[in-house]
Formats: sequence, structure tokens, C-alpha cells
Amino acid sequence: MIINAPEQHGSYGALLFDKRWKDKRAIILMRDNNQCVICENNNDLEVHHRQYRFIKELKKFCAPWEYPDKILITLCNSCHQRGHSKFKVPVIYV
Ligand SMILES: [Zn+2]
Ligand SMILES: [Zn+2]
Repeated sequence: MIINAPEQHGSYGALLFDKRWKDKRAIILMRDNNQCVICENNNDLEVHHRQYRFIKELKKFCAPWEYPDKILITLCNSCHQRGHSKFKVPVIYV
């Protein structure tokens, strides 16, 4: 079975504007001292998911804010882009 990463799902982008994601994102940024964990840049910060969870029972991915904090890290836009072009985010089935 082939499942596209959630970022490729049309609706996923819209979820990132959800208040619940904004709140979660703010918590992660604060924890990481508002800087990229790789290069310490503090501009253009984004929160990256180190894994995606696919809920077998519901046949859908977890919403972005439903992940434990340890799965999420703060990256600047350029480290984030670079990371995604080098590595594929693993999908786990829960
Ligand atoms: Zn960076
Ligand atoms: Zn990412």
C-alpha cells in the first residue's frame, strides 16, 4: 500500500492555519528557544514533524497538532527544505 506523505495531501496545508496547530507550534518554538535546532537561525521558523502517523482504524493521518512534542522540532525554512529533500519522513501505522 502506498500512502503519500500528508504534506502532499491538499487538505493538510489548510490544517496548518488551524488555531490548534498555531498553539502547538508556539509551544515547540518556545521550547526550542525560538531558533532553528540545526543552524540557530531565528528567522523563517517552521515546525517539522519527524514522523507521520497513519491511524489504521480511521484510515487517515493524525492532525498536525496531535503529535507528542518530542516528534516536533523547530527548523528555519532553509534547513527544513533541505531536510525534506534529503530524507523521507517515516510513516508509522498506529
Ligand atoms: Zn536552520
Ligand atoms: Zn517538515
